[in-house]
This record gives sequence, structure tokens and C-alpha cells, in this order.
Amino acid sequence: MDGMTANDLSHVVDADRAHVWHHLVQHKPFETGEPKIIVEGKGMRVWDQNGKEHIDAVSGGVWTVNVGYGRESIANAVRDQILKMNFFGGTTGSIPGALFAEKLMSKMPGMKRVYYANSGSEANEKAFKMVRQIAHKRYGGKKHKILYRDRDYHGSTLATMSAGGQDERNAQYGPFAPGFVRVPHCMEYRKHEQDGAPEENYGVWAANQIEEVILREGPDTVGALCLEPVTAGGGVITPPDGYWERVQEICDKYDILLHIDEVVCGVGRTGVWFGYQNYGIKPDFVTMAKGVASGYAAISCCVTSEKVFDLFKDDASDPMNYFRDISTFGGCTAGPAAAMENMRIIEDEDLLANTLVMGERMLANLQALAEKHPVIGDVRGKGLFCGAELVTDRKTKEPMDEKRVGAVVADCMQQGVIIGATNRSIPSRNNTLTFSPALIATADDIDEITEAVDRALGRVFG
Ligand code: PMP
Repeated sequence: MDGMTANDLSHVVDADRAHVWHHLVQHKPFETGEPKIIVEGKGMRVWDQNGKEHIDAVSGGVWTVNVGYGRESIANAVRDQILKMNFFGGTTGSIPGALFAEKLMSKMPGMKRVYYANSGSEANEKAFKMVRQIAHKRYGGKKHKILYRDRDYHGSTLATMSAGGQDERNAQYGPFAPGFVRVPHCMEYRKHEQDGAPEENYGVWAANQIEEVILREGPDTVGALCLEPVTAGGGVITPPDGYWERVQEICDKYDILLHIDEVVCGVGRTGVWFGYQNYGIKPDFVTMAKGVASGYAAISCCVTSEKVFDLFKDDASDPMNYFRDISTFGGCTAGPAAAMENMRIIEDEDLLANTLVMGERMLANLQALAEKHPVIGDVRGKGLFCGAELVTDRKTKEPMDEKRVGAVVADCMQQGVIIGATNRSIPSRNNTLTFSPALIATADDIDEITEAVDRALGRVFG
């Protein structure tokens, strides 16, 4: 670790313990134990304060570092840009902002405009506000409701939590904003938990459940439907056949705007540029954040279709007819400069193709583990975005308890392999081990990760 002595690092740990409030952490154990500080990264690997090497199977913990660590060309692109012009906010544009928007749109046929912000939550809020403004402009405020799914997650702010389908995250933070309505999820493996779910054509049936909510609420009150293409934190839930086609039909039928949250799936994670492109969907909004610049800079985008954009300029004589919103750091140029280079790397290194091949390998390895370990009830995934759901009994599908799922994650960490598990706090829902390595993963990396999981499962459930 360049330039830092053991004493320096011990000071860092003390400063962290004394002053940093970590995300998602109960801090009591840190009073005696040690917080983990990630000090350095290169490619697929990171090193902690004790010099221990880990292979990172979760791209920076939260599905973000798609092109891996230590990319000099991204650092250079950001350095050059911020020395030339780091920031100008408000109504102006920037060179990297314009060029990245053009590049991004070349990957998203049918989409037209990029609105810059900083986080996934913020990008989603922008889309929600656009939906509300459209409702006011065109429908006297009536068509303002935003539908979201059980198990989906759209962010940590109060409005995005109002569209949050994971109750365990929301407990203790209400009351939430009005006008957000929950619709049922679509999860083949757990369809037995849904009354009336059929054996055949489950996908179409599940989409029809959304239509029932629309009819109950009144289609003239529903402005948008917001969905993750593959649900991430809710358990790596891939959609069954027929689902998305029917969802699209329903949105078209009732003139409901389709908002696809690509904060996790976006920019290559599923082996295509955007998750929705796997399913032939025509969105009105696409929001993205994590993989856009692989965590080298904070950037998010709310991308809209031309149809949506045009609604905000159709009557220029009305002084109120524009999107009256701002994001200060939407004017930072580091974000689009990093994003541009990030995208060039994915293209030049053919990382989408690698993601498809390595994703297949990851799924096959996990399926092989399922043959050996009966605690694996289901294996799911799309590209390098995979999950293995743990159950106590394959017949009843009783979810594995948080403690033992946590023990598997901890055992892997001990072995120097960082894997994830989706929100383990609610045993009935959060029992899925998650794997989302950088898109540069090699066959050896994938095997190293799943071999560690094999050993961990053997020790915890052996
Ligand atoms: N949408 C999805 C699908 C997410 O997984 C997340 C973050 N995990 C968000 C939105 C919110 O992104 P952020 O934390 O950058 O606000």
C-alpha cells in the first residue's frame, strides 16, 4: 500500500471508528471489532487495511465497478477534464456532457434525451417528477399515480422509498409520499406464495396482476409504472417468459409511461447495454447510475424518449412549460468524462461478449453446486448478475435464516472472496447469495469464486 505505514493505517482505522457512520451498519460491534477499510484495488481484486487480498465478486459491494479497479485511462480522462473545466452548473452544457449523451443514445435506440444527476435515487426522482408534471400539464393532475412492484427497490430518498417494495427497508421511515401504488411481483420460484398463480404461463398471469391494480385504481389516475428489468436487491429475480411482452401491452393499452430502473442492470451487467434490451421493451424513462462510470465518478442519468421530452417544450409561450428541476452536481464534468471512457473500455475490450460467456459459466458453476448442496433451492441470473437462493427444505422452499446465510458470506470473506446476500434482515425474503463480479472476470476468477462458495456451504451446512 503505497506510502502508508502500518501506523498510518492504524490511525485510519481509529479515525474511521471514531467518526464515520457506515452505510447499513449496526456500529456497536465496531467498538471492539475492526471496521473493514478497502485500501487498494486492481482489476478484480481489492486489499484491506491488513494487506489481505480479496477477489471481489460484487463489483465494489453494490454492483458498480463494471470495468474493474485501477483504470488509469479513466483517471486520466477525469484529470484532464477537471483541469480544463470541472464544473459549471445550472442551465449550461459541457463538452463531456454533450459527447457522452450522444454516445449513450447510440446504445439506446428509441431514446432521446439525457438528464444528468448524481445517484440512482436522484435519477428515479427526476423521472417521478416528470411523470407528475405531465399529469398536471395534460390531465389536470389526475393521472399522477406511480406504480411500483413488491420486492423492487428504487432508492433511499423518501419519494423513492415511497416506491420501495422491500418493507424491511421501509419500516421506521414512514409516513411516505402519497400517489405511489404497489403491484405484485413476478417470481417464478416463489409463485406458490401468490394466490391463484398457475403452473403454466405464469409470466402473463403475473403481468395481468398489474392490470388488475390499474383497473382498481382507475387507468385515468395512473401515470407510470416503474420496474427493475431484473430485480437486484429483492433477490436477483429474473422475469419468466411472456412477462415483459404483456407488461408493455398493458402500458400501451392504458397510456401508462414505462419507467425502467437500470441502476443495477445498466451499462453491460446483463451482457447487453441495458437490461430492458433483453426483453424488447420500449421504455419512456430509463434511469441508470452504478455502472455508468463504474464508481470512478458519481453520475446518474434519467434518459427519456422523445415523446416525453417533447411534452416539456410543446408550448414555449407558457413560462411554466419546462422541467423546473436542477441538480447542482449534474454540472460536474468528471461524471460524463469518466462515463465516456468507461463505455470505450467496454466496447474495446468486448466486455459485453465476455459478460455473456462468464455469466453462463457462473450459472453453470452455481447449478453444479446446487447438485451437491441441497440448501440451494434456486439458481437465477442474467449475464454477470447471478443469485443462489438458500432454503431449509427444497420442497417447502422455506427460506434459510439470516444467521446461516450470513455465515456463508463471512466464510467466503475469510477465504478472501467477497460475495453478497440480498437484504438478509427479513428471513422470508432475503436469503439469496449474490454474484456480480466486474465484466472483466475470467474463467479462473469465476471458478475461484464458486469454489470458495462450495467450501463455505460445506462448512456451514456440512
Ligand atoms: N435502483 C436500484 C435498482 C438500486 O439497486 C439502487 C441502489 N442499490 C437504486 C435505485 C438507488 O441508487 P443510489 O443508491 O445510487 O441512490
